[in-house]
Amino acid sequence: MPDPYKFTDHYHDVIVVGAGGAGLRATLGMAEQGLKTACVTKVFPTRSHTVAAQGGIAASLQNMTPDCWQWHMYDTVKGSDWLGDNDAMEYLVREAPAAVYELEHYGVPFSRNEEGKIYQRPFGGHMQNYGEGPPVQRTCAVADRTGHAILHSLYGQSLRHNAEFYIEYFAVDLIMDDDGRCTGIVAWNLDDGTIHRFNAKMVVLATGGYGRTYFSATSAHTCTGDGNGMVARAGLPLQDMEFVQFHPTGVYGAGVLITEGARGEGGYLTNSEGERFMERYAPSAKDLASRDVVSRCMTLEIREGRGVGPKKDHIHLHLNHLDPKVLAERLPGISESAKIFAGVDLTREPIPVIPTAHYNMGGIPTNYWGEVVNPSKSDPNRLVEGLMAVGECACASVHGANRLGSNSLIDLVVFGRAAAIRAGKTIDRESPVPTPNEKACEKIITHFDKIRNSNGNTSTAKLRDKMQRAMQEDAAVFRDQKSLEEGCKRIDGIWEEMNDLKVSDRSMIWNSDLVETLELENLMACAITTVHGAAARKESRGAHAREDYAGGKFSGRDDENWRKHTLARVDENGKVNLSYTPVRTQLLSDGIDEKLIAPKARVY
Ligand SMILES: Cc1cc2nc3c(=O)[nH]c(=O)nc-3n(C[C@H](O)[C@H](O)[C@H](O)COP(=O)(O)OP(=O)(O)OC[C@H]3O[C@@H](n4cnc5c(N)ncnc54)[C@H](O)[C@@H]3O)c2cc1C
Repeated sequence: MPDPYKFTDHYHDVIVVGAGGAGLRATLGMAEQGLKTACVTKVFPTRSHTVAAQGGIAASLQNMTPDCWQWHMYDTVKGSDWLGDNDAMEYLVREAPAAVYELEHYGVPFSRNEEGKIYQRPFGGHMQNYGEGPPVQRTCAVADRTGHAILHSLYGQSLRHNAEFYIEYFAVDLIMDDDGRCTGIVAWNLDDGTIHRFNAKMVVLATGGYGRTYFSATSAHTCTGDGNGMVARAGLPLQDMEFVQFHPTGVYGAGVLITEGARGEGGYLTNSEGERFMERYAPSAKDLASRDVVSRCMTLEIREGRGVGPKKDHIHLHLNHLDPKVLAERLPGISESAKIFAGVDLTREPIPVIPTAHYNMGGIPTNYWGEVVNPSKSDPNRLVEGLMAVGECACASVHGANRLGSNSLIDLVVFGRAAAIRAGKTIDRESPVPTPNEKACEKIITHFDKIRNSNGNTSTAKLRDKMQRAMQEDAAVFRDQKSLEEGCKRIDGIWEEMNDLKVSDRSMIWNSDLVETLELENLMACAITTVHGAAARKESRGAHAREDYAGGKFSGRDDENWRKHTLARVDENGKVNLSYTPVRTQLLSDGIDEKLIAPKARVY
């Protein structure tokens, strides 16, 4: 092992990597059952990206309109464009109401309706009567600061149950033993430069999404797909990475999000002719059609010359017709964002918006208990022992090809909880914590040391910018074979250029240059699997909208050949190997008629 690295060893039943909504819910659930649990996080828990979630969390509580889990299930299946797994989706929507009440009891200060019940707003793609409409009010909200409230409550509860926190520790890689079992992680303490081995019977990855592979993204700069990178380096597959959601309303220029709750409260979009164009494309759901649909319609309007602004390159979002009192009460945060990032007073003027990279449907493949799977030809359910994944880094898959708004926050708490329940049953409390595989650890540190001493000619910032622009241009809202092949070529080239990186700061203490380089390596594993998966998928489905596959019965969706999950493995040289595994159509119960959720055309 290269000098002068020395390991500090820790032994726990469970290590959770990440302290966003998913990581904290898992940590809390593990600690509550008396499992010795530590949570390792690169940012302070309440600074995780979950803090930025505005609009709300979906559950069929029926506080404002009639609703039931079966309708929520139908909407989620349809939203996923029939790529989600039925067992996981059923688990999600059935557990959702209990998970929201649990949050209420943990102290989340939900907004209230006149009866004093949890306030719920309409959100895109959530409807009554199996999609027939009218829109359902299903999204539970704490004004427009829902994620903030959830994160603070879960952090407090985790501390109450004596979970240990290792804050501002950067997880570098998974420690895998010779039998393919995960036995812990190697992490770097950013504050004092020491290197730690967290050994555990179970590692839970909850590292969030990889929005920062794109130039314009709503996600925090810390959303760099680190868990996905670690999994890829361990030789395990990533699933459905080609499905990247663009949110219709990022503030033009800044990328900052204006929640879909804005349209839920009555906001609408217009083009340069002042036309409410969504009425033309989605006569029933209009501005509340699902996100991929609205993003595509906006892009079409701009392309056909009906964009607003001097360059005719964006769209207007109107809230100025709404009662200022409602805006102040229900959307105080975005009133501020509109002022700061677009310079508009939303009680008087429309907000300039544009579709912006927002969410990653793909990630680390798991079953609905959060256990990581590494499907083989003979066994699609093969487990990776000792490893779980929850939250945006995971792919259970409940969002399939497109996630519905407010279905992520509920995914975090339902599956964070499910992972804890499962671990409580499968972890043998009496058995010793596994000792680390020294050879694997040496390999991790040698690689870390190599990156730290990179001495080429390209700065990390420059190469990252190149990657982000390639993704933005070649793997965006609309795609075709030519742009995707170009994207593969560009990203493959950037992978080569990683050998020419220069890290100028060699220290071990608060070395942001090295942190960003490790993050870039993780982003690249995400970017390369995204473009290669996308170039190979010869159909349009959900967020993967191919202009060269746009016709036919299902507007370009080809269930016969492509209703299957992509599995992408990437080797050290950046070679991507693709294989496929079937969508899980089996339901958990007979509570919903299978025929109701059978594939059909997806219209709003
Ligand atoms: C602006 C915005 C608004 C949104 N609004 C909504 C909404 O209203 N409703 C909804 O349902 N969804 C919403 N979403 C989506 C949803 O908020 C996210 O998908 C979700 O919060 C992700 O949570 P997470 O726990 O998986 O990860 P995150 O909250 O991103 O947390 C990741 C954690 O992993 C840690 N971590 C990462 N890498 C490492 C490493 N190498 N070492 C150690 N720790 C590491 C970080 O420190 C952090 O604690 C929104 C997303 C954005 C960006």
